[in-house]
Amino acid sequence: MTVQALRFVLGDQLTEDLQVLQSTDRRQDVVLMAEVAEETTYAPHHKKKIAFIFAAMRSFAESLRSQGWTVDYITLDDPANTGSLTTELARAVARHRPRRIEATEASEWRVLQAQKAWADSIRIHVHLHKDTRFLCSREEFETWAQGRNQLRMEYFYRTMRLKTGLLMEGDKPAGGQWNFDHDNRKRAKSDLFMSQPLRFEPTPIVETVVRLVSQRFADHYGDLEPFWFPVTKADAETAAAHFMAHMLPSFGDFQDAMVRGQRFLFHSVLSPCLNVGLLDPLTLCQQAEEEFKQGRAPLNAVEGFIRQIIGWREFVRGIYWLKMPGYTNENALGARRPLPSMYWTGETDMTCMAEAFTQTREEAYAHHIQRLMVTGNFALLAGIDPHAVHEWYLSVYADAFEWVEAPNTIGMSQFADGGLLGSKPYAASGAYIDRMSDYCSGCRYTVKQRTGKNACPFNALYWDFLARHRARFEANPRMAQMYRTYDRLGTEEHTKISAHAKSILDHLDQHGTDKSPR
Ligand code: FAD
Ligand code: SF4
Repeated sequence: MTVQALRFVLGDQLTEDLQVLQSTDRRQDVVLMAEVAEETTYAPHHKKKIAFIFAAMRSFAESLRSQGWTVDYITLDDPANTGSLTTELARAVARHRPRRIEATEASEWRVLQAQKAWADSIRIHVHLHKDTRFLCSREEFETWAQGRNQLRMEYFYRTMRLKTGLLMEGDKPAGGQWNFDHDNRKRAKSDLFMSQPLRFEPTPIVETVVRLVSQRFADHYGDLEPFWFPVTKADAETAAAHFMAHMLPSFGDFQDAMVRGQRFLFHSVLSPCLNVGLLDPLTLCQQAEEEFKQGRAPLNAVEGFIRQIIGWREFVRGIYWLKMPGYTNENALGARRPLPSMYWTGETDMTCMAEAFTQTREEAYAHHIQRLMVTGNFALLAGIDPHAVHEWYLSVYADAFEWVEAPNTIGMSQFADGGLLGSKPYAASGAYIDRMSDYCSGCRYTVKQRTGKNACPFNALYWDFLARHRARFEANPRMAQMYRTYDRLGTEEHTKISAHAKSILDHLDQHGTDKSPR
């Protein structure tokens, strides 16, 4: 029988509801899925990230087959595998001779450009469907952004609340406030009971993929085992239900907290599943809202969780598409230092950084405040090249896809877009880390010291950062207080701070930079 449509599903498009998987007659169509070397090596991805995506893809293919689809699945170790999405598609077209190709627009600019070239390079009709898994389409975001001097998540988020009706009482926000962030800054203690995310036993598919990754990607960063992420829709939904029942009630209070040895606190660890399409963002938010309605989770927790998803997640995607290409090369602060090797080796005496690095290597996960206020903050203060920082974040986290990672890194964390995404840089001294964590009490550095050999490196770097960028930030009303405090320190202290910051940066430069694992 002539194949009508060859339906090409990419590794982060594992959602049955997508238009590309709506067919009038499945028997006439073939679904194509391919594990390709090009996608695994354009950044030195964490082994767990590669294993997660391949295992989720293979599980998805199996589920499609059980529903009557013919799936042509090209594994990475298939000797005939040519290693790129375009050449695998061309080979599949030669095999099946379909009348047309159907696919969903890629989430990443680079891959979308390749998709747009398929019709010409493979000489076949290509129908690219919109990715409908977001609440705000790219066009809708462009319209929202048009004519605004500043793009602020908070206003976008309110539009999304009104659009979805989530936590709305008519046209008013539930509880009389749009945002309960002020209630969400409690410090967590290590003796506080914290549920852990559900760990899933490896399925036979996971075991096969783990073997493949351990052989093919032995030189990549990160620990492959234990591997416990959910890789099917059903398991992802079980993980989400576990989060709703056990973590969501405290998610708000301790959202910004960091505790030694506690890698997940009350975070959901659902971002990998959301980003490959195993979970639906709106459904997840509706489930969280139901927990509030049933009195099982407080408003500050549920609002905080929903804001991350319909606010931040959608907002950063909008920014990505508004500003690509070029966004990943922005460098508004002119930061040029190479990435210090500790980002890969984890070797540092700074307890906060060591905690973040260790769990990143072992779990391919760190929660938002670790990414933003520890490793990201350090890179910002030390003037690390934002593109190198971007490549690191893109490589090391299981949830890292460029559309969500780049705006968080380039914009939110490194201020490299000059303030498009955030009104002020997320720069902080050791005092912030001390307030939000128990890291400092066990650290070889003294958080209350600004200079001297035992002084917390974040302190001198922070004040030196403010001094270096005074011309840019002094007039920012949200930073005026910091400059007043700096000025009160006096010239003598300024000189000491600048000398100490220089010695830290010289030390970084001398002790190796950017030793990425390959
Ligand atoms: P939770 O704290 O449980 O939050 C719930 C969900 O909200 C997350 O699963 C995620 O989907 C969404 N969310 C929360 N914050 C953000 C945010 N700032 N932007 C977008 N979505 C958000 N997130 C990624 O999904 N992929 C990335 O590659 C990524 N890179 C980041 C890099 C930096 C420098 C920073 C500061 C943040 C980055 N984030 C990224 C955002 C955020 O840190 C992660 O989404 C979050 O830590 C995932 O863990 P979780 O599922 O336990 O989140
Ligand atoms: Fe981090 Fe400084 Fe605290 Fe040490 S003292 S844990 S380096 S903030």
